[in-house]
Amino acid sequence: MKLAMIGFGQAGGKIVDRFLEYDERTNSGIVRAAVAVNSAKADLMGLERIPQENRVLIGQARVKGHGVGADNELGAEIAEEDIDEVQNAIDAIPTHEVDAFLVVAGMGGGTGSGGAPVLAKHLKRIYTIPVYGLGVLPGTDEGGIYTLNAARSFQTFVREVDNLLVFDNDSWRQTGESVEGGYEKINEEIVRRFGVLFGAGEVGDGEEVAESVVDSSEIINTLSGGGVSTVGYASEEVELNTGGGLLSRFTGDDAGDDLDAANTTNRITSLVRKAALGRLTLPCEIEGAERALLVLSGPSEYLNRKGIERGRKWLEEETGSMEVRGGDFPREEPEVSAAILLSGVTDVPRIKRLQQVAIEAQDNIEDIQSESEENLEELVEDDEDELEPLF
Ligand code: GDP
Repeated sequence: MKLAMIGFGQAGGKIVDRFLEYDERTNSGIVRAAVAVNSAKADLMGLERIPQENRVLIGQARVKGHGVGADNELGAEIAEEDIDEVQNAIDAIPTHEVDAFLVVAGMGGGTGSGGAPVLAKHLKRIYTIPVYGLGVLPGTDEGGIYTLNAARSFQTFVREVDNLLVFDNDSWRQTGESVEGGYEKINEEIVRRFGVLFGAGEVGDGEEVAESVVDSSEIINTLSGGGVSTVGYASEEVELNTGGGLLSRFTGDDAGDDLDAANTTNRITSLVRKAALGRLTLPCEIEGAERALLVLSGPSEYLNRKGIERGRKWLEEETGSMEVRGGDFPREEPEVSAAILLSGVTDVPRIKRLQQVAIEAQDNIEDIQSESEENLEELVEDDEDELEPLF
């Protein structure tokens, strides 16, 4: 599937930059165009791969290239004011060669949190291709304001996109790591998961065509209907025969082929279970997911229709969904992986907790504000009100 990716804010830009690196490394061909939008000049300069002419600085009149802090209302305002400048960059994209837009942003900050939903709304008004969001939730240790920003951005972003794919920093952060080092790893995880998913069906010249191909229309159908999505992933190393064949562990055994087939099917089935029951990009209950897509990738000799069929059936039972699609994505890599897109998930305790903390933060901020107004009044005014201000 070919995407036009727009990274909004620092996290958004960095993640799109990583997608370009992934694309180069794996030749996946998913990033047809990449744009970064930010109100902070330094963040745009820090990007590595997004072409200079596709880096758009907004809000110069208001914040002079210094960013909006964590003020996402200001982020939304300047995005609206300068939407034409963003559109100019998008005008240079051959949108007829693109299957969908992907607007990427961290929802806890200011520029991306406020701006990404504004851009999604704008794109949906102009283009007929789907507009998806990739929204990153902040860690719970980032504090109340980030949580409040994320809760408000999430509500707005979901409403404005055709589907919001969510990644939760909180369930992926590791203790004892520097923030930057942590993000490096997290961004790699984001790119791998979404890369395999969107990469399915983008078969390059000379590459093998999958037995049961996943094409972009299946990804689009899985995401259609809107709502929130999460992605599960699991992989297992396998031996690659440089000649292209299978280096069987059972060579020399007469029953080798049968055993290999059974082994392949079992491996796939257990990978599917691990992917669905392991850590999701957004932790949630998979039961009740409206639609799902299973993508099995790896050397073609390690993929089989029976395994995919079994994995699909199992997913149908676990989710209770009648719309579970599946297919393979042959790649000459020394691993077999299962990526599962669960779309239309609604049982997400993490979001409910986020909203509670956000409401508490909102109340606290209001209390502190009115308290500090009172305190200032008390400080400035003399007790008996005997003094007069000058004017
Ligand atoms: P903005 O530039 O004002 O949009 O704000 P940032 O993008 O810097 O930060 C918004 C949120 O994104 C933060 O609260 C973090 O939760 C998250 N974040 C920042 N940088 C990264 C990153 O490189 N990767 C990931 N996964 N999250 C990030």
